[in-house]
Amino acid sequence: MEIILGKYGELALKGLNRNQFENSMVRTIRKRVDRCGEFRVYTAQSTVYIEPQNDDADIDLAYDEIKRVFGLSAIVKAAVCEKDLEAICDTAERYLGSALDRAGTFKVNSKRADKKFPLTSMELSREVGAYLLERHPGLKVEMSEPEMTVICEIRDNAAYVHSDQMPGAGGIPTGTGGKTACMLSGGIDSPVAAWMMARRGCDLVCVHFQSPPYTGERALYKVERLAWRLSRWAGRVCLFEVPFTDCQVSIRDNAPEDYFTVLMRRSMMRITQMIAEKEECGAIVTGESLGQVASQTMSAIRCTDAVANMPVFRPLIGNDKVEISDCARKIGTFDVSIEPYEDCCTIFTPKHPRTRPVLENIEEAERGVPDLSGLESIAAENSVLKVIHFYDEEYAL
Ligand code: ATP
Ligand code: MG
Repeated sequence: MEIILGKYGELALKGLNRNQFENSMVRTIRKRVDRCGEFRVYTAQSTVYIEPQNDDADIDLAYDEIKRVFGLSAIVKAAVCEKDLEAICDTAERYLGSALDRAGTFKVNSKRADKKFPLTSMELSREVGAYLLERHPGLKVEMSEPEMTVICEIRDNAAYVHSDQMPGAGGIPTGTGGKTACMLSGGIDSPVAAWMMARRGCDLVCVHFQSPPYTGERALYKVERLAWRLSRWAGRVCLFEVPFTDCQVSIRDNAPEDYFTVLMRRSMMRITQMIAEKEECGAIVTGESLGQVASQTMSAIRCTDAVANMPVFRPLIGNDKVEISDCARKIGTFDVSIEPYEDCCTIFTPKHPRTRPVLENIEEAERGVPDLSGLESIAAENSVLKVIHFYDEEYAL
């Protein structure tokens, strides 16, 4: 029988909260594999076991889902057999024989969690290695950098045979880190920032600003698809779509042009905060990276943060664009992010925004914009909530 083993990451280190972390992760895994057929999901010895219950259960599909479950440092498909040398040799040959035919070099590694097993790890490795060598005459043993490693794990319930494991999604389980309000544009950066918070166990409440009629339906659908791609990792993602045109127009008409960007960002921050408070989020998240554009200098960030009264996390602050793009490709948001739809930030933007705005001057300019806080409240009030799940097919394009 084939099974999936998921090895705990940081979770294994958690003290008192460990049970809560473990339960959250198992709950997530159960939900994910629900669509893949009937599986039994249980934990033992810092490992989660995902066991198909019949032939209809699609183990490859389940494996694909589990790659995106936070809290697992490694995952692997393994063959299960009796804790008996002959059975282990036979299983290794049946399960990995054809892969061994393709490899030039190999080694066997054994782990013995059950110390009652009669052979030591070394002895078991040697026996299994000899058995496999006999059946694959072209194969050579190579201890330092083998092309393939056969791993035999003797655990409490059974023995498990597999080859090299894959890295898991890492991080800590979804639902254990609190809620964050992520400012989600249609760009490359903010989905990556949101994903990083999800990897730290946070639930995502995304806030997107749109400026109809300057930004269109396609731009909105693009952000919904980004939220969907995030939900493939985070499970369930809330998305607030905020009509932002009135605030922008009022700022444009009533403040000096070169302050527009900072004032707009302060407005975004205040509106996000209203939503964050209503949704009981503990922090705001943005995709800013220091120095990337005029609004992301230290003094500009100081001016936006001055309106926040909760922590503002910027997980990408020290990353280069290349690294951020690589991460976007890895998590599957890049190709959507680069679709060319107008973002609300690109309308009305001055040719020469201030790179070193001074807070006092900004506050002064803002006082000249009549009823901005009223417009912000209306925008927050009129925002549209979408709740997006990883199994919502309509966003899967
Ligand atoms: P991104 O790739 O995330 O769009 P960017 O490099 O284009 O980032 P900016 O446009 O200055 O940078 O935006 C900085 C951050 O402000 C974004 O990462 C995002 O968190 C937030 N933001 C920008 N535009 C929007 C928007 N339309 N809706 C929600 N948040 C936004
Ligand atoms: Mg942007």
